[in-house]
Amino acid sequence: MRIDAPRLESFVCEIFMTAGAAAADASVVAAHLVEANLKGHDSHGVGMVPAYVANIRADLLKPTRHAAVVRDAGAVLLVDGGFGFGQVVGGEATDIALERVRSTGVVCVGLRNAHHLGRIGAYGERCGAAGMVSMHFVNVVGHEPRVSPWGGREPRMTTNPFCCVVPQRGREPIVLDMATSMIALGKVRVAHMKGEPVEDGALVDADGVPTNDPGVMMRQPMGTLGPFGKHKGYGLAVMCELLGGALAGEWTAQPAHSRGQNIVNHMLMFVLDPNAFGNRDAFEAEVLAMVDYLHATAPARGFDRVRVPGEPEQEARRARLTDGIDVDDNTWAGLVKAAEVVGVPSASVP
Ligand code: NAD
Repeated sequence: MRIDAPRLESFVCEIFMTAGAAAADASVVAAHLVEANLKGHDSHGVGMVPAYVANIRADLLKPTRHAAVVRDAGAVLLVDGGFGFGQVVGGEATDIALERVRSTGVVCVGLRNAHHLGRIGAYGERCGAAGMVSMHFVNVVGHEPRVSPWGGREPRMTTNPFCCVVPQRGREPIVLDMATSMIALGKVRVAHMKGEPVEDGALVDADGVPTNDPGVMMRQPMGTLGPFGKHKGYGLAVMCELLGGALAGEWTAQPAHSRGQNIVNHMLMFVLDPNAFGNRDAFEAEVLAMVDYLHATAPARGFDRVRVPGEPEQEARRARLTDGIDVDDNTWAGLVKAAEVVGVPSASVP
């Protein structure tokens, strides 16, 4: 199914409104998910709708909740998402940080108990668009862990995303936004839906044998995802677990916490105003010059050119806005089923 972004967004919005969300909140979530598809991250796009609907029906995702500040210590704030839509409470927590950083120069916001935040880059891009630097450490709990530590073959964490954003004068911000597993769990789901193998080194089966079959994550006994970048990627995943999980959320993947079908994210977010260092012009000029220097690198064999983080997403977005978004048959069937379950009239299905 190929569909243009506005039609897909309004269908998804109607599903969430029918499931009990206010129109404004449903629209925020739908826009976030479709933006993920536009940016090439189908793993974090509309394919998440059935899981969100299931969690609303199981009362794990509370569609009317908003972010609440539970501790305000000036440049440090703690925000509780109350298990509301991650896209809603995550956006609100980011706005709280952006408002505060104007007076403090730097701010650290802990967001706890958000249902799935989706693409973490969305919050970083919001900071970048406001001219701020930002850094986001996120952990994922509420279900069984899926990612093994470096050197292990049993899962201990999930795909713990990390994001860092640097604004650029007159250009889109540089956005490093990534899972700390070799591939995002959602990409395993997408490969499974499409019947495609995953890349070498991404998965081991339940016996610890490397495999390209995404199906090992869909059946019992379940396989595991490995961390990216050997011990270094694993180290970053641990920091996401400890900063997002232990500090902001007081809830890590350790087994004393209950596990079920929920998808809960905790995020520790730092936002910094480059003006606070006193010479924004010099910073911006240096960023532009360095990025130009990177872009001017001669490409290695098999590459067309050198990019900076965030550019693949910008390119995907331009192409998909023009050509439409390809939604594979299994994902589309899941979306239509979710619409039916919540009671969207069949006439509304595109
Ligand atoms: P990815 O591997 O596709 O990209 C990771 C980063 O590398 C991006 O910043 C991208 O711009 C950059 N990049 C890719 N190719 C590049 C190139 N050729 N040159 C320069 N930079 C390049 O992303 P991923 O790890 O699969 O993560 C996908 C999404 O999943 C992210 O948006 C992440 O936030 C999200 N995620 C969310 C959760 C959650 O619990 N909410 C968990 C895991 C991942």
